[in-house]
Amino acid sequence: MSEKFRVGILGATGVVGQRFVQLLENHPQFQVSALAASDRSQGKGYAEACVWRLPGEMPDSVKRIVVQPPSPPLDCDFVFSSLPGDVAKDAEEKFARCGYPVISNSSSHRMGSDVPLLIPEVNPEHVGMIDAQRSNRGYDRGFIVTNPNCSAIVIVLALAPLHTRFGVSSCVVTTMQALSGAGYPGIASLDATDNLIPFIGGEEEKIEAETLKLLGRFQGGAIDEATIKVSAQCNRVNVSDGHTASIRVKLSQPASLDQVREALASFTSLPQELKLHSAPLRPVIVRDEADRPQPRLDRDAENGMGVTVGRITSDNVLDYRFVALGHNTIRGAAGAAILNAELLVARGYLSQNRLR
Ligand code: NAP
Repeated sequence: MSEKFRVGILGATGVVGQRFVQLLENHPQFQVSALAASDRSQGKGYAEACVWRLPGEMPDSVKRIVVQPPSPPLDCDFVFSSLPGDVAKDAEEKFARCGYPVISNSSSHRMGSDVPLLIPEVNPEHVGMIDAQRSNRGYDRGFIVTNPNCSAIVIVLALAPLHTRFGVSSCVVTTMQALSGAGYPGIASLDATDNLIPFIGGEEEKIEAETLKLLGRFQGGAIDEATIKVSAQCNRVNVSDGHTASIRVKLSQPASLDQVREALASFTSLPQELKLHSAPLRPVIVRDEADRPQPRLDRDAENGMGVTVGRITSDNVLDYRFVALGHNTIRGAAGAAILNAELLVARGYLSQNRLR
């Protein structure tokens, strides 16, 4: 590609916004040209507005970009959004209406009946909903595409290989989710230390609903949701990054333990075939050690884009159980959205949308 797409980041100063900035430094197709955040940050250079909380330095290329309000026009070809859900709803619609593709992390549009909820390894054909969305909403060049909840993506990347081969009929999941999943500053240190909080508002409902849409079939311009029974319980634990999910499944067809392991370990899909820049070589990494996966050891697998699965064994109540782990701000947020954008470029949805 001769020229890079110029991208804006909405919510650029937050936990996920900073990951976008970090992951987009030296990206071969995308270059950050606009940043937006709340009125606390607007009018300041990014270096002044943002307290950089990731390892390594803030990239020089963004330091002097002046933070704007999250509303059009912005000097970019499309936007990544990591705005809080309540702000994202209207802001993202405004951008789409004004002709900007919006590639969002936020939850507000995920379950919209004409909005793709995308994991490129799992349901790349769902991008076809963009055409229905444009015609339903009268958008000409803009659209909204979303990535899933940060636990749902970990769970579904582990379920998809099994669902494709054997069918999954029931799934019971318990999550142990990192503190960074609550944004900054998140939970007070005195609540988090020496503790576990068995409640994350809205999370269980999101996992239960999004899993069915993600594993659904795209036909006749709409999603026919999967008919899996999903039960989720979510806990916040004292881990900085990396969401862990303990998963039990009932399969529709019989499968041996070896077949289950093999289906997970051999899983690759379209992003690997297309060699998309952010695609992990192995979307699912199977580990056989008795005590893996662990957040500190496994969250950075495949540059944070791999989901590590271990403890695969038969289960006395359902058929099989295992533990899956993924990086919540990379595979669960900014990295997921960037991979979505790379798929949209490959499928021609972004090349048609240049505003310049
Ligand atoms: P965060 O650290 O609290 O950051 C929020 C960002 O939004 C900041 O840039 C903030 O700007 C901006 N913002 C807040 N209120 C605003 C307003 N009224 N108008 C405009 N901008 C506003 O949150 P986060 O963890 O990055 O999460 C961002 C979104 O991503 C949320 O929708 C969240 O559900 C989703 N998400 C998060 C994760 C995760 O692991 N953290 C994973 C997946 C999805 P200022 O700095 O100027 O206040």
